[in-house]
Amino acid sequence: MAEILSRAAPGGVTVEPGFELVEEGLGARVDPARPVVVRGYLPAMDAGAVRDAVASVARDLGHLQAFGLRPIGELRTRAVHEEDWANAWKRHFPVLRVGRRLVIRPTWRRHRAAAGEVVLALDPGMAFGTGLHPTTRLCLAGLERLADAGLVAGARVLDVGCGSGILAVAAARFGAREVLGVDIDPLAVEATAANARRNRVARIVRARAGSLPATGRPYDLVLANLIASLLVRLAADLYGAVRPGSGGAASGGRLLAGGIFVDREPEVRRALAAAGFRLVGRDEEGDWVALEAERLD
Ligand code: SAM
Repeated sequence: MAEILSRAAPGGVTVEPGFELVEEGLGARVDPARPVVVRGYLPAMDAGAVRDAVASVARDLGHLQAFGLRPIGELRTRAVHEEDWANAWKRHFPVLRVGRRLVIRPTWRRHRAAAGEVVLALDPGMAFGTGLHPTTRLCLAGLERLADAGLVAGARVLDVGCGSGILAVAAARFGAREVLGVDIDPLAVEATAANARRNRVARIVRARAGSLPATGRPYDLVLANLIASLLVRLAADLYGAVRPGSGGAASGGRLLAGGIFVDREPEVRRALAAAGFRLVGRDEEGDWVALEAERLD
């Protein structure tokens, strides 16, 4: 079908398999039993030529039916307006305010900072984390609260699943002494390093491919905007990554965990408690929850 369409469609052909969302909406699984959509794009300059091309595709698809392959659906046509595809997505990324004083500015937009504002210049690149998603917003707001409580300035921070590096960069801008971002996706590692440079915190934020368990000294603050199933699976390693209390009244390090779909919250709470964390804060937006926990010992 793609071959037949491509003869009429110099603008290109796409093949879109049927899929279902998995991993709490973060992944997709192709379902070969579902219908596949094949699209061809042809310039609509000459209406007569388009009609002829469509008729010829319909005829050839009719011939293809004779081979007894899977059933071929009806050929549909519609006019679509030409866009600058490479840049169209940028329209959907405005300057965003999060919490009281954080401002996320996509690199292609301007913003005049007001006194006291912390402005992050972000290019999401191919990695998740534009500040638009509720899970990221919740974590940023939580981070700002921790900063207001004096728990970020001078801290050593680990960002597990750093994505675009938005949380890592925000932590550095809130005065963290040292931030390590890790992600299993090499594109995320690149995006984090680039965003750290862009915000002039490259000396503070380092990024590398990987995950838990953390090596080296445990951290004052661990950020983990993942998904519920991963947080459950990694609970013990997250505990190991957080610094213990230094005895007496001195409290242990903190974990800020996000990406928790509200239905999965009890499960994540149980896993964190079993690992040794004490819940000290909770925030929700829409269907999403972020939890703040402290290492108990
Ligand atoms: N920290 C960013 C934010 O808050 O916007 C991105 C969060 S995004 C929901 C989750 C990130 O975790 C993705 O970049 C993904 O590649 C990464 N990831 C998934 N599984 C991971 C694992 N086991 N260890 C480390 N990173 C992981």
